[in-house]
Amino acid sequence: MPELSTQFLNEAIEDSKPFASQGQVNTTIPNFDDTMKDLLGITIITENFDIYSAGDYNHIVPMQSTSKIIGLMLALKDFGKDRVFQTVGMEPMGDFFNSISSLESPDTHKPFNPMINAGAISIASLIKGQSVEKRFERYLTFLRDITENDGLQMDEDVYKAEIANGARNRSLAYFMQSTGTLVTDVEEALDLYFRMNSVMMCCNDFARVGLFLARGGVDPDGNKLIPDHHLRTVKAIMLTSGMYNASGHFAVEVGFPCKSGVSGSIIGAVPGKMGIGVVAPAIDGRGNSTAGGALIKKLSKDLNLNMFGIENVIEG
Ligand code: GLN
Repeated sequence: MPELSTQFLNEAIEDSKPFASQGQVNTTIPNFDDTMKDLLGITIITENFDIYSAGDYNHIVPMQSTSKIIGLMLALKDFGKDRVFQTVGMEPMGDFFNSISSLESPDTHKPFNPMINAGAISIASLIKGQSVEKRFERYLTFLRDITENDGLQMDEDVYKAEIANGARNRSLAYFMQSTGTLVTDVEEALDLYFRMNSVMMCCNDFARVGLFLARGGVDPDGNKLIPDHHLRTVKAIMLTSGMYNASGHFAVEVGFPCKSGVSGSIIGAVPGKMGIGVVAPAIDGRGNSTAGGALIKKLSKDLNLNMFGIENVIEG
């Protein structure tokens, strides 16, 4: 079996690059255009803090939907599981990530889960703070602690584009208000959601988030930032819903919790082993990076990272 090394990652990147041609770059994101189609970068940080990077790993992109796991962690810390899941469900959904039809379900109007847009807007409505600015500051502080990167910040142009292109998200939020599902200030929840999407990160930052999840919520200084029971919840929901309506496919082919964003970013958390950060901007119709997804699948197979692998049981 191959060993994790920079050379292995370089080869894995070359193998995965052709899959970019199956995707499209989301050009509604400022500075995103077709010249980025072939970008592919990865950073892996192991449980011992060994770092392996390859390809375009320094490229910085907005978090987009990878922010949904940070928002969920913060809401769980603020309100606990019972309250959070009164607001949002924990079931996978077969529709697209920005679907509105699922909110019309006759028995419950709750969004299916916190990884789809409606669910993440509901989660944003829970995050504590006296103003949007203060709530976002808490989000950013938590993210900076997790990644140990004090330089992380929101990009104003991306934020403005989120607002300008936010008709669907506004529709989701106002629909939820109309059914009594979203009871706080709708514009504030949306504003916080847009800001959370607009924080810029590179592969190393994404990998740090994955490592945080994989190492029991402990930051690089050894501080425990979130209880284990909340981490379990977040990782389970990433596995069942983190890759939207391709989550079943990724659970089978990858077998560890992942979360994607339409910037072509993917966070992977291999419990007890490593955090993975990938950036490859060409995405498929479901919003997942095509080359990035191929790369994660290859890593799982070649490095034997699938949590459900019988091999792990025998070795353990
Ligand atoms: N900003 C995007 C949106 O709100 C994020 C979606 C995503 O990354 N899947 O639709």
